[in-house]
Amino acid sequence: MKNKTYSIFGAGASGLYTAWRLLNGEPDSKQGEEKRLLAGDTLELYDWGKYDFTKENPGTRAAGARVCTWHYNNDSSQAYLELGGMRYSAWNGQPGAQNPGHRLVTTVINKLDLDKYSVPFNVSANTLFYLRTKNMYLNDISSSNPAPYNVDNYGATTSPDTGFSTIESLAVDPDASPKTRAEWCEFYQNGAINVELPESSVFQKGDKLKNIGYWNLLFDQLGSEGFQYTADGNGYTSNIINWNAAVAIQANDEFTPGSQYKTLTKGYSSLFNALFSAIVQLANQKGIIFDYQPDTRLHSILDQNGKVHFSLATREHPDKKAALKVSDAAWLAMPPYALELVAQATRYADVEGLDVLNHERVQNYLSSAIMQPSYKIGMFFDTPWWINDPNNKNNPVYQAPILAWEITMVVLEALAKKGFPLRYIEKINNCNTILNTPYASSAALIEAVVQCINERLTIEQEKELLAASQRNTIGPSITDTPIRQVVYFGNNALDRDAKPVYGILASYDDEQFTSFWEELEYGNNDAEKVPFSENYQPLIGPRKATAVMVKMLRQQLAALHFGPQADYSIIPEPLECRYMDWSLPPFNAGYHAYAAHYDVCDVQQKIRKPSQLISNADANIFIVGEAYSNDQAWVEGAFCTAESVLNDFFGVLPIIDDENYPFICPCGR
Ligand SMILES: Cc1cc2nc3c(=O)[nH]c(=O)nc-3n(C[C@H](O)[C@H](O)[C@H](O)COP(=O)(O)OP(=O)(O)OC[C@H]3O[C@@H](n4cnc5c(N)ncnc54)[C@H](O)[C@@H]3O)c2cc1C
Repeated sequence: MKNKTYSIFGAGASGLYTAWRLLNGEPDSKQGEEKRLLAGDTLELYDWGKYDFTKENPGTRAAGARVCTWHYNNDSSQAYLELGGMRYSAWNGQPGAQNPGHRLVTTVINKLDLDKYSVPFNVSANTLFYLRTKNMYLNDISSSNPAPYNVDNYGATTSPDTGFSTIESLAVDPDASPKTRAEWCEFYQNGAINVELPESSVFQKGDKLKNIGYWNLLFDQLGSEGFQYTADGNGYTSNIINWNAAVAIQANDEFTPGSQYKTLTKGYSSLFNALFSAIVQLANQKGIIFDYQPDTRLHSILDQNGKVHFSLATREHPDKKAALKVSDAAWLAMPPYALELVAQATRYADVEGLDVLNHERVQNYLSSAIMQPSYKIGMFFDTPWWINDPNNKNNPVYQAPILAWEITMVVLEALAKKGFPLRYIEKINNCNTILNTPYASSAALIEAVVQCINERLTIEQEKELLAASQRNTIGPSITDTPIRQVVYFGNNALDRDAKPVYGILASYDDEQFTSFWEELEYGNNDAEKVPFSENYQPLIGPRKATAVMVKMLRQQLAALHFGPQADYSIIPEPLECRYMDWSLPPFNAGYHAYAAHYDVCDVQQKIRKPSQLISNADANIFIVGEAYSNDQAWVEGAFCTAESVLNDFFGVLPIIDDENYPFICPCGR
């Protein structure tokens, strides 16, 4: 029997996951046996960039593609910031459909033995806002202290996220709301406005949400000021663009109680180092040739009589065809902009064959993902000036809201060891409103516990409880200025004895705000030397910020934490400041969102093997990754599309029971 070659293009989340599962997956059938890789077969992995995977395979920046951990001074024992993806929603391992969490990311972390590095990554319950030059905390917004927006129906007297729930209530009955993945998928297809709306409203009862742009709907229902308050105050501009309203309603429901966000103490990139090492080890064990080729990009791709024919280009000359190769199956594990570049080269390639990517129906489905540029700027300081600290020259007027109290299972175990009454522990454990819920004040937590156990605590017990449950959140703070969100990482260095440095994401912004920072990537006297299409900064790694960018950041941080009149110099000069511009190639987007007027279930089912959209065609070319997944903007989506392709087209047994957790939308299948 002839040896097989499988080729993966893209060494980000979906590409690495595919390689790992091709090597460790169990066949579910005879077809699975035939398709699995055996000793002597070849598994190729190409990437346009070169990531720092292992000592033997070093690179220009941390592993993970759109995940990119950046350590102070590039020293992995020092504090770090996440300049790309940063956290996951932990799953409790229970199969029931209503258990929240990213099941594949949690499973991979567990299987790679990274559980020991997994820690909570909590969002503050009392956000600090700076909107229209007014500083305020979420808990202080009320009818006597409204947010500075002229919103109808007292809309500025509550959280800006109320706008999201107002829209959700047009289509979702709180007593019968979709709760499981399958129910939400059904909602994407059939969810409709189910309340009577005034005749003046553009949208009416019965209108299907999948055919409505979310911005259009927000504007129609909340009015100009209501829309603006929600848009400014939720922090992510990508949440309020004109995307598919059915999907937007589910996505903006994300911060509901019950989700426990986590990250890895070694940085999120370490997940991808571990995956790469596992791939190398498995290939060695099984005698499969693992051919990793960094700095090499897929240039064009066609199917010829059941074989995949492709051309490659080097990183040095990415637009010039450099080699021709043949494979039995190919995975395009890359985002839509990168796919479009391959489609363009294929369109003009003078070779016979089935050009899958350029078929009209495939192009139409590829257009269903809207590119969402995003930008992160990290800063390290020698003092945590955003909280009260004895080392600060000036303590902030508006402190970062990072202090929180949260009871987790680990906290309960610690309390048990300290001799905290077991009957209290049992009761708290059974009060599911308390567990994993962050409280913004110690008093609020004590009050909740007292209510739950129905007894008073002694002063000693209160102290023990607060000491065990206190943790810092990451904020964020939110503003309508171009920094948009500030995320507080602090001193998270693994080496606790080293001189501390404190990190923040001084800006986490997206959509039009990315262009605000782009002009500051240059000094005031610099002329543009590199065309936008050839600026591959995200592949090279976090780039040092210019003096003008740093000054602009300090101005906006000063207003957020010291008030609108504060001088920029009240914020200390950072020790180091670097950025990642996710609007640049080959990503051109930090994440993606489905457009309106698409059946996103059908897109998910068909685009992963695009020849399904072409009559009488069957090409072994697959598309995997976050962009066309059921978990856009998450690593989970990248893993899930990859798993679904292997299950449905390569006869690989699902990595976990998928009965209650369809990896992609089943669309009634
Ligand atoms: C700012 C930001 C914040 C985020 N926050 C989170 C978060 O908190 N949690 C979370 O889970 N996710 C988050 N995400 C999203 C997450 O990072 C992505 O969903 C995920 O990493 C995407 O993986 P992927 O495999 O689909 O694609 P990518 O990571 O984009 O990998 C694609 C790879 O393909 C390569 N490539 C491109 N073209 C070619 C070619 N022609 N030939 C060969 N190789 C090519 C690229 O170099 C790249 O390495 C965030 C992303 C960003 C940018």
